[in-house]
This record gives sequence, structure tokens and C-alpha cells, in this order.
Amino acid sequence: MPLPHLQLPESLNYIGVFLTLECNLNCSYCINDPQQAGRRNSLFPIAAKTVRKELSPEQWIEGLGRIPFSADLPITLQGGEPMLYGGGRGLGTLLAGLPHYFDLLTNFALRPEVFARNLNGQQAKLQRNAPYPSIRVSYHAEEMDRVWHGQGFAELVQRCAALGEHGFRVSPDKAESDVGIYMVEHPANVVTPEMERLVEGRVPFEGKEFLGVHEGRLYGHYLYPYSTDLVARGIYPRTLKCECRTTELLVDPLGFVWGCHFFLYESWVQGGPLKEFEALEAMQFRFRERGEGLFSGRSMAPVGHLLDPAFAMSDLEIFRPCTHYGRCVGCDTKIKNDRFQSFYDKQIPHTSVMIRNIEMPAQLRAGIDDIDRVAHFFRNDDGNGKHG
Ligand code: SF4
Ligand code: SF4
Repeated sequence: MPLPHLQLPESLNYIGVFLTLECNLNCSYCINDPQQAGRRNSLFPIAAKTVRKELSPEQWIEGLGRIPFSADLPITLQGGEPMLYGGGRGLGTLLAGLPHYFDLLTNFALRPEVFARNLNGQQAKLQRNAPYPSIRVSYHAEEMDRVWHGQGFAELVQRCAALGEHGFRVSPDKAESDVGIYMVEHPANVVTPEMERLVEGRVPFEGKEFLGVHEGRLYGHYLYPYSTDLVARGIYPRTLKCECRTTELLVDPLGFVWGCHFFLYESWVQGGPLKEFEALEAMQFRFRERGEGLFSGRSMAPVGHLLDPAFAMSDLEIFRPCTHYGRCVGCDTKIKNDRFQSFYDKQIPHTSVMIRNIEMPAQLRAGIDDIDRVAHFFRNDDGNGKHG
């Protein structure tokens, strides 16, 4: 029997599917490592294929098939490196089984002709009519220069441009192009005249805000004070308690739904929910009934499973206690637009999570410049040890 459809709230801003956490590169500031400590290869090894670490394309088709089609809310495939999912061929099978539009966040691990062949004629699923490219290719200078013999950027531009021969629109105008290149604006990343020459008139190329700490300085703009740098910058010796809920649907390679990027990544840093998945699969993925018991010994627990017939979007709307405030991943707490341009048009900041009742110590409150703007996120203390 097909799984029940999900009722997506109008406010849902993002559907992120982490097809695989395996990657061909080993970037020192890997987005999947909450500590950004250059440990990628040891954290997410491309290990023996005997270990089950991904849903099959058929399972994804069943799970993602629950999501109603929307022309303006794509399913974003990411990772790791999603081109490598299912030995490379998984992507085409998955796309063929679903009517949806998809965005792809990739480092262009495969040659364009191999990527196109793997798509198996499903190019149109990656060609949404949008103001920006559906295939967003990230440029990682150090690693790409290593694997492409010092020609990292030239090779990347070439691969993107070659998609024009495989059924995609390629234009320097990002509203007209299915593919674009993005570079994190890390202080160490510079755009050279040579790079400008290589990309000009061919493929859109933009910077992406760097989120994180570099040489003691915090980069990025965040709604919640100290949410990403509390411990990393030695501001306070431990993380804080709060309550938190997500505004996005984030699904890991085994179909578990997570409450934030930190929980998703950190659970995989700790080895991934592999045993729990095996047990859950044997009980028809009934996470709502059995999840609490299965994850009782774990510090990181998901909020649902995409293949659980009882999973509902309302599972994401529950504020849950968290003890990790201060180690949040930047993309969860940074200020951004929602898909209706809320920040640009109405100055309403959007974030991937909503946080409340943060137990912010008085000494930290004293150091916050715009305390009036953020005080309502903090737990009130009446001074008698009681909290309201
Ligand atoms: S390409 Fe992305 S996922 Fe892969 S190592 Fe680099 S930052 Fe991490
Ligand atoms: S407070 Fe931070 S670490 Fe905790 S659930 Fe929210 S985003 Fe994740």
C-alpha cells in the first residue's frame, strides 16, 4: 500500500535530501563536519560496500513520493556528493520514479558525459524555471587543484559549460542557466583575474557567505547570539539548554528526518544510525512507535523517518529540548530570506530553526549589544531559581 501523502505547510521553505555522505573530495572546512577540522576522510570514509549507508532508489521513490508536487519548492539533493549516489547511476533511477523538480548541490565529481548518461534522460527534472540555477556547483580551490592537477577552476568551468551539449541550458545569466558555480567567501578564497577570464561569458559564478570562525573572528549574520561560536571562540566553556524546532525537511541518507543540520551531521560523525536503521527496517519503519526505544542510548536522535506511515509534517513543529546551543551549524541559525523573500521585502528574518527558552547566563547577556532585539529568545528567570 502506498504511504500516505504529506501535507506540506505553506511556510515550508526547504526540502533537503542528503543522498549520500560519501564524497570524492576532502575539504578542510567540510560542511558536514560541525567542527570544520579537516577530518572528512576519517569521519565519512568511503568504506566497504557491505555496510548499508543509503536508502535504495526505490525506497527514495516511495518516501519522496509522499511529497506533493510543487513547481516552486524543489527537492534539493545534496550530500556528501550526490552525483556518487548508488554508484553514480542511482540518481537517474530516482529522478525517473518521481514527478518532482530537483535542485542538485554538487562538486561535479563525474565527467559531464558520465553524469548525463547516468541521468538516463531525466534532465528536465533538473530544469526548473527559477531565478537561479538548479544545479549549483561548489568550487573548492585546494581540493580541486589537487585532483585536477592545478587546473581546478578551469576544469570546473569546462565541465559546467559542457552540460550545454547534454540537454541543459548554460548561460552566463543565472536566470537563464541550469548550472552555476558558487564559491564560499572564506578569507583564504580569492577570485583571481585568471578565474574571471575563464568564467566570463560562459557560466554564472557567485560568492556564498562564509559561515564560521576564522582566526578568532566570526563570519556570517545570525539571529541567535553565540549560537555557532559560543564554544568555538571560547566565549563560554559549555553549550546551553534551549528548545528548538526546524522549519525545513532534512532527510539523511537512510531516510531519517532530523531537527537541524548539527544533529544530522553529528549523528553521522558518531558513526551514523546504521544499527537503528536495520532494526527499524525490520519493523516497517514504524519510527513513531519504536523510535524512542531504538535511540534511547544515543545523544542524537532524529524526529522521524520518511518511510514511517505515521510520519507527518507536524512532527517537525514540536519544540524539543536541546543541550547543544552554541554549537549550532551556521546554516541553521544564519539570517536569510525565505522563499518569498521575507527579509528583503519585509525585513522579517528567516532561519532554518526556531529557538526559544535559551538558558543564557547573565554574564553572556551583558555582552550582547542588541539585547532588546533578542531578549525574547531567552528563558526568563524571576531570580528565585524558577523559570518562566
Ligand atoms: S565537496 Fe562538500 S561534502 Fe565534499 S569534502 Fe568538500 S565540503 Fe565536504
Ligand atoms: S539549538 Fe542548535 S544544535 Fe540544538 S537543535 Fe537547535 S539548531 Fe540544533
